[in-house]
Amino acid sequence: MPYHDMREFLARLEQVGQLKKVKASVDKDWEISTVMRKCIFDNPKESRPALLFEKIKGYSSTVAVGALLTRTKYAIALETDEKDLVTPWLNALRNPMPPKLVSSGPCKENVLKGRDARLSLFPIPTWTPGKDGGPYISAGCVVTKDPDTGARNVGTYRFMVRSDYECGVLITPAQHIGIHYTKHERRGAPMEVAVAIGPDPSVCLAAVAGVPYGVDEYGVAGGLRGQPLELVKCETVDLEVPAAAEIVIEGEIPPHERVEEGPFGEFTGFMGPKGQRPAFKVKAITYRNNPIYHGYISQMPPSESSNIRGIAMEAAAHQCMVDNGVPGVKNIHVTEAGGAWFHYIVAIEASYPGHARQVIQVLQGAKPNYCKFVTVVDSDVDIFDPFQVEWAVTTRVQPDRDIFVVSDCPGFPLDPSQHPDRRFYSSKMGIDATKGFDFEYPEISLPDKSYFEKAEKRWPEYGI
Ligand code: MN
Repeated sequence: MPYHDMREFLARLEQVGQLKKVKASVDKDWEISTVMRKCIFDNPKESRPALLFEKIKGYSSTVAVGALLTRTKYAIALETDEKDLVTPWLNALRNPMPPKLVSSGPCKENVLKGRDARLSLFPIPTWTPGKDGGPYISAGCVVTKDPDTGARNVGTYRFMVRSDYECGVLITPAQHIGIHYTKHERRGAPMEVAVAIGPDPSVCLAAVAGVPYGVDEYGVAGGLRGQPLELVKCETVDLEVPAAAEIVIEGEIPPHERVEEGPFGEFTGFMGPKGQRPAFKVKAITYRNNPIYHGYISQMPPSESSNIRGIAMEAAAHQCMVDNGVPGVKNIHVTEAGGAWFHYIVAIEASYPGHARQVIQVLQGAKPNYCKFVTVVDSDVDIFDPFQVEWAVTTRVQPDRDIFVVSDCPGFPLDPSQHPDRRFYSSKMGIDATKGFDFEYPEISLPDKSYFEKAEKRWPEYGI
């Protein structure tokens, strides 16, 4: 049975030892992110806990962070095996389940409108203390509509709290919300916006997945959870939000108005610059009794945002290989150290000369903002183990033969290595670390499997 809401999911995480409760009273503007960050650095990858801060100085709400920090938690969110997170994703992309509109839901337990709807009622954390421009809503599922077609988009975008009634929002033109905003601006019309915080986890995962434009993320969430998502209508805007969301902020972004937004510690591991950006004006806030404020720890990888994005990107890349008829792809890993953005590693069953290069060119062509680096290895290499990948790269690559660089491709403007005057261009590199077809490689310098099996049988006798 899918989770009904974020609370059920958090309870499940606690039950299986994946969530810890912090009882001490903490400051939302430095302590939440610092304590979470220390948990990331101090614990081995899969034992990094989610945290539920029960007491926030000056607030009555609790704060949940790190609920989707690791592959283990991601698998719990999808109620699946963490060894295969791609199959449920491919199913959801191919078989989305349209959401169901219901008349009311828990998110309507409290309704505040006009001047009563104040952002400072909730403990919205500052994530990079001393460097961010303000507190940020980091895990909002942001709902907007295409004014021409009515097609809905749900995405996660950074919202900097500027006052009780206003946020600055980073919107770039190619993002789905950016396409909607450009259309609204051309008409001189405000864009209605709803920000759902703490819906059931499938919505969070769908919102960061970068599904194609026009695909309803609520439908994908339904596909992920195996049951249609329940939605309710907003109070002051013509939009729908998950009925069981913890907090919903309604409002609009007027055309042609810009306010200062940023800086913000970004997923690249560097500060993203401040700038003049669109302004979100709050009109209403609805929330559950005893709301749990849900945030992502983003910033320097490893992070929650890189974990959730990477897994969805891997699924999208698999789909891209299928769509383009590229055979033999065994596994794809979008590395977390590369911000789950810049470096794709692909394992293939190489079947013909040039196969690895085809994989690189298709990926870099189809995913032009991502894939600054694509490394292709043979399927004997575990692409989730950086040690094995480096072994393959160092022993199966002749740099002048197997590495190629292409200049002036589309880039991603938050990549700090780009010259500030050329933020939208990037060069790209492909590494063919497969053995290829030109000559035979020597045998691997390990005993054959049969020796290991014999030793395994006698294992108790060794007394090790
Ligand atoms: Mn979208």
